[in-house]
Amino acid sequence: MSKNLIIPLVSIAGIGPKRAKAFAKRGIKTIEDLCYYFPRRYEDRRKLIKISQLIEGEIQTVRGTVLAVGQRRSFKRWLTITEVAVGDASGKIFCVWFSQPYLKNYFKPGKEIILYGRVERYGKRLQLNAPEFEFIEDEVKDLTRIIPIYPAVEGTSQRYLRRLIEDVLDEYLPSLHEILPYNIRTRHNLFNLAKSLRVIHFPGDENEQKEAYRRLSFEEFFIFQIPILLRKLRYASQPGITHQSQGKLASLIQESLPFRLTSAQLRVWEEIKLDLASSKPMHRLIQGDVGSGKTIVAFLAGFFALEGGHQVAFMVPTDILARQHYENIRGQEKIKISLLTSSLDKKEKTKIYKEIKEGKIDLIIGTHALLEEGVKFKNLGLVVIDEQHKFGVSQRALLPQKGNSPDILIMTATPIPRTLAITLYGDLDISIIDELPPGRKPIKTLWLELKERKIAYDLCLEQLKSGCQAYIVYPVIEDSYILDIAGAKKMYAQLKEGIFRGVNIGLIHGRMKQKEQEEVMQDFKEKKLSVLVSTTIVEVGLDIPTATCMIIEHAERFGLAQLHQLRGRVGRGEAESFCVLLSDAYTMEAQARMTAMKNFSDGFKIAEEDLRIRGPGEFFGERQHGLSELRIANPLTQLHLLKAAREEAKQLLKADPNLEESAHLPLREKLLQRFPEYEKLTIVG
Ligand code: ADP
Ligand code: MG
Repeated sequence: MSKNLIIPLVSIAGIGPKRAKAFAKRGIKTIEDLCYYFPRRYEDRRKLIKISQLIEGEIQTVRGTVLAVGQRRSFKRWLTITEVAVGDASGKIFCVWFSQPYLKNYFKPGKEIILYGRVERYGKRLQLNAPEFEFIEDEVKDLTRIIPIYPAVEGTSQRYLRRLIEDVLDEYLPSLHEILPYNIRTRHNLFNLAKSLRVIHFPGDENEQKEAYRRLSFEEFFIFQIPILLRKLRYASQPGITHQSQGKLASLIQESLPFRLTSAQLRVWEEIKLDLASSKPMHRLIQGDVGSGKTIVAFLAGFFALEGGHQVAFMVPTDILARQHYENIRGQEKIKISLLTSSLDKKEKTKIYKEIKEGKIDLIIGTHALLEEGVKFKNLGLVVIDEQHKFGVSQRALLPQKGNSPDILIMTATPIPRTLAITLYGDLDISIIDELPPGRKPIKTLWLELKERKIAYDLCLEQLKSGCQAYIVYPVIEDSYILDIAGAKKMYAQLKEGIFRGVNIGLIHGRMKQKEQEEVMQDFKEKKLSVLVSTTIVEVGLDIPTATCMIIEHAERFGLAQLHQLRGRVGRGEAESFCVLLSDAYTMEAQARMTAMKNFSDGFKIAEEDLRIRGPGEFFGERQHGLSELRIANPLTQLHLLKAAREEAKQLLKADPNLEESAHLPLREKLLQRFPEYEKLTIVG
């Protein structure tokens, strides 16, 4: 879109600083944002149903006249109940709101109103609980068309939003620049931009809306792919490091392992070796389910690079995990391995900084602390980023910048389906470890209600008897009265004195001192503790094979990927393992998550379920790249469109890598505005 829409909202008459602020909360800062503020649903006001024809249990829209308004208090709960009776020629329906006493003043008998909500029946009485509503005043126009309903913006009504957006479209669409090149639009039969924006807000019919949606999704995919493709081109054009290594050290380590690598691990290791030995810089993503054994493969890569005379940096999201990796790998002869976390004091840090800079440390394992400015390498040759989904894009980019085009290996246990991965992580090569080490038994997953907690504890005690260990995870440290959930700290005290009396039980959470955390972890590892009460601090990477029981309290508070990660802390040994989800899961979504956990153990399946239940934006979370920026397109349901957009983007960049042709200037402008890093990417040559 052309620059002329990057106009602040306050330039519109009637939008002052206060309104602008409310809009900004929704991410709307400019006229352009307003054009791209898509409806959440539509209402076809040409075909409203009569009250007598409403279907019980369904969400419907109905029009009527306010007949009466009342307000009362409930006995038990100190709530105000507002009741409004609405009627049309065919019948009557009641609307009920709790705790919103001010509503009473809105409704005046005789007013025309449109209601939207789930229709319920109590005896003879039809009722809508807290429906959405809009008064019809002088808007004949809106009664003769399909109208958009937007996600609410504080302090504005639907009618106001609708008018505002329509006015903006009227004024600005005629001068709008198209950003998709003409030939691409014709090839894929896409609406032009002005038309698609008009239609997405005010569709004439369902088909038209679908076409507008297709065009705007295509655009989003297209714009989203360009930086990815450019990055890939750039990687390919840079000279990387050819590691001069015979692979002897890695072989030695491999032979000294108490197990043999699975064929999936071997395959991935071969792929990595080729990358390391080649002159192109490696940018490889290892996807592998929890417990599939990614760490060892990464370490083999590390030893390979070390033998070739380069330094290796291994970054993980938590101190605990950094320490675990460090403990597992240290003690190799002739190799200097160190640990760098934020809990080190200044003196220790300075010493490590110096050693890294002088090349005295070969392999450094650490957390975000590795990203600090003081960390400078002598000759960084390989960067490993474990649990990449825990880092932001910019963080992931920082570590490699401390070297001269080092090889990069990224690992994730939050896998996404391969087809999707290829397009979304198009700048990376992908290796998949799709096999678990032999002898792992499937984890038995149970979903119990909170009142059945005792069953979970009994199961846990049973496990302890046979010498196994257990985690009990809480969503918060302190109790929350507002959310009505128990916290780890208090439950720890209760369990210790109650059902787990006589059992060695420990507590760990993120607000404890680093030293204390380490001691507790060490005790758990050495089996001095049998039960570990914790928060999600144990979520990623922990590897204690004798732990066989995981109880997750208030499991509905966790996302599916997170639950899967937590469950992955057990089932790491030969013994049978259990995971108990304690949850009353009130919402449909929470129930779907619990059910998915019960039914699926495969991380890829879980990821797919999660995408299905939650939609892509939420799945990838705030800090993740790209996907969460997609406002309208859905890569799961529109995979074909995504592929087509990617293909077109490829062709376009081939022909005009810096988007210098005049027909591509609006696109270039848009990219510059959306992606701050874009300018840097275009010097491909
Ligand atoms: P993740 O992929 O989740 O990071 P880890 O690398 O932590 O998994 O490995 C999980 C556990 O499996 C570790 O205890 C590791 O030593 C062990 N392991 C890894 N590969 C194998 C294998 N081929 N055979 C048996 N055990 C293995
Ligand atoms: Mg791991």
